[in-house]
Amino acid sequence: MQRASYLDALLPSQRGKLHGVVIGIKDIICYKGHEASASSKILEGFKSLYSATSVQRLVDAGAIIIGRQNCDEFGMGSTNENSAYGAVINPIDDSVVPGGSSGGSAVAVKAGLCMASLGTDTGGSVRLPADFCGTIGFKPSYGRVSRYGLIAYASSFDQVGVLANTVKDVATILEVIAGPDDFDSTCSNKATEDYSAQIDGTEQKFRIAYFPEWIEHSSVDPEISTQIKNLIEKLKRDGHEVKPVSFNLTEYIVPTYYILTTAEASSNLGRFDGVRYGFQKSKGSDLKDFYKQNRSNGFGKEVKRRIMLGSFVLSAGYYDAYFTKAQQVRRLLQEQTALIFRDFDIILAPNSPTTAYKIGEKTKNPLAMYMGDIFTVFANLTGIPAISLPVFKHSSNLPFGVQAMAKRFNELSLARFSQRLMPQ
Ligand code: GLN
Repeated sequence: MQRASYLDALLPSQRGKLHGVVIGIKDIICYKGHEASASSKILEGFKSLYSATSVQRLVDAGAIIIGRQNCDEFGMGSTNENSAYGAVINPIDDSVVPGGSSGGSAVAVKAGLCMASLGTDTGGSVRLPADFCGTIGFKPSYGRVSRYGLIAYASSFDQVGVLANTVKDVATILEVIAGPDDFDSTCSNKATEDYSAQIDGTEQKFRIAYFPEWIEHSSVDPEISTQIKNLIEKLKRDGHEVKPVSFNLTEYIVPTYYILTTAEASSNLGRFDGVRYGFQKSKGSDLKDFYKQNRSNGFGKEVKRRIMLGSFVLSAGYYDAYFTKAQQVRRLLQEQTALIFRDFDIILAPNSPTTAYKIGEKTKNPLAMYMGDIFTVFANLTGIPAISLPVFKHSSNLPFGVQAMAKRFNELSLARFSQRLMPQ
């Protein structure tokens, strides 16, 4: 209310692009003076000493940051059930999950608690909850938005993303938060474009690729595959060039992602030891015991699983067999993707093999949970921008969307295509 009164008193000439816009932020993005816990006990009571660049830019543009949003601990999960605060439920059907890891961010937009949310997407964490809750979820190219102030999970994958109800809202927020940042050397020096001003009224005919191996994949719900095929036919009738492209690396995507991200996580999460901030359960009998007590009690089960998996794939003797091999596959994926974008503007795909899972359905089987990420992690492995657009409804009444991807840094083309599919 204080912030709103302050904004109300500004002269029209002083008002920013997001004047009075109410935005929520995933509890993994820092906002100065406010708690940030990554939904983990290990960061209990921690208050940010600085704001993330993305948050600072929202504030500078006149936004009101309404609160922090529940998520899977450190962004590790696909259902928002791995949180120290408890699970989030889907606003459309309370027997199913909202998707994760940015579950709270999707629910808040869907429930009208804010006009948009900032989430983070390391392997689908913005797009999957958008898909399960029926909102738009957008992950920019790696390097398009600064990661400064984003609590790191896997640094070569993490990106800040946007959840909102319209493509125009996404485009407007993107142009505010994107662009070079002295505090993140992996952030690209390319200047931001005025995306929102350029998305309407294009008559452009897009060259669209799709992978039959994905749409026909045995894990995909038949209704999802039929609806996407129908959409492909419609796009053809509308004059776009839509063609199948063979993609033979599908089965390597999920293993590659989980080897590389757990390796990066095991290193990034080494800093949480209870010495300087956050949770400190015990002083321990010696230093080793101190770390053991605090890390064992501060991290949740899934986070511990990933730290151990990551330490394993990086360990002497296994490094070449797992980590190096996965890096080689990542390179192959990037090369194949670059070739596809020589001939196409857009790759069209499902977001997820199924609609939202029942609460508890996948928690006992982490591998089954990981396999649900098959269509989203590709964009993070290759660094390309990707968006989930809520254009379908399942006979079970749950929403689902279609995923569109574009060449790295071609956010404009992706936004234009999205606006054509979901004009508003
Ligand atoms: N489900 C994926 C994982 O658990 C995605 C996470 C994310 O994008 N933060 O790693």
